[in-house]
Amino acid sequence: VELANQIAAGEVVERPASIVKELVENALDANATQLTIDIDAGGAKRIRIRDNGSGIAHDELALALSRHATSKIADIDDLEAITSLGFRGEALASISSVSRLRLVSKPATQPEAWQAWAEGKDMQVRIEPASHPDGTTVDIQDVFYNTPARRKFLRTDKTEFSHIDEVIKRIALSRWDVDITVNHNGKRVRHYPAVREQQQAHLRRRLAKVCGSSFAQDALYFQQQTHDMQIEGWLAAPEQCRYQGDVQYSFVNGRMMKDKLINHAIRQAYESFLTAERVPTFAIYLKLPADQVDVNVHPAKHEVRFHQQRQVHDFILQTVKQLLFAHNQSQID
Ligand code: ADP
Ligand code: MG
Repeated sequence: VELANQIAAGEVVERPASIVKELVENALDANATQLTIDIDAGGAKRIRIRDNGSGIAHDELALALSRHATSKIADIDDLEAITSLGFRGEALASISSVSRLRLVSKPATQPEAWQAWAEGKDMQVRIEPASHPDGTTVDIQDVFYNTPARRKFLRTDKTEFSHIDEVIKRIALSRWDVDITVNHNGKRVRHYPAVREQQQAHLRRRLAKVCGSSFAQDALYFQQQTHDMQIEGWLAAPEQCRYQGDVQYSFVNGRMMKDKLINHAIRQAYESFLTAERVPTFAIYLKLPADQVDVNVHPAKHEVRFHQQRQVHDFILQTVKQLLFAHNQSQID
């Protein structure tokens, strides 16, 4: 169990930002529409996420903190195999093993709230009554306090916070319907109000909050589909592109991905419109049938494997090329 704990924690918890990602994903799984994220000292001191989701019932609190799937793991080889298939179900237990974690929750159907935490060598779960509105708070303090080797790898508060900021931006761009507030060291640093109506003006307002107003104002919107693929999003016009394209977001079936194939296709589309050292800026959304794509290649990375790589690549390339060509024409006319 000790071995599995440590390895699993290493898989899930690279740094505070990976904790934030796991917790936010849990909240979204629970249909939360409102998230309040409190970070202290870049997350090293505290990460607290409150949501208004469905909550965790009293008799499931202990289970949520225990490694419910660990029994499947016999040895390291096994773990490797399971991980590569997208083995999950252990984020809270892993995080709890390398921090001081407290889980407080109240489902709407349950009159009172309860809190749970694990303690001691065997990570015995304790449960007590608590006070909490409908939803869940996960409060994590002192990340890696018991694993000094890992703690040493943490960078400055500013750097760690910027990683957290990135994670939240990606969520803000993929879940328009969720209201997100971020406080750092007690000060409100981000607020992404929910977008109630999927209209360009509303979407662009949120896009501006995440990607900056100059990109959001002038970005070219596009949408294209084939019989089984759909792509839409915003791209910087070539004349807008900077030397550093820090805004490069791609989402596959609603999940943020860092994908070489997508990036390559876009870069290639820009080739004849852009001088070599400039980098295209974009936020794009690709949808394709679930059986055409493997996500979760690695739980902590954002990789994706397309079954029909050529088709996906060319679809993006052609779509973006067309868009840029049309834009170029309109500039000339
Ligand atoms: P996984 O999400 O892979 O199931 P986790 O360790 O992240 O594993 O979470 C364990 C369980 O705790 C979840 O399956 C879910 O039932 C419950 N849970 C965790 N966070 C929340 C939350 N914010 N709201 C409701 N339930 C939650
Ligand atoms: Mg989870």
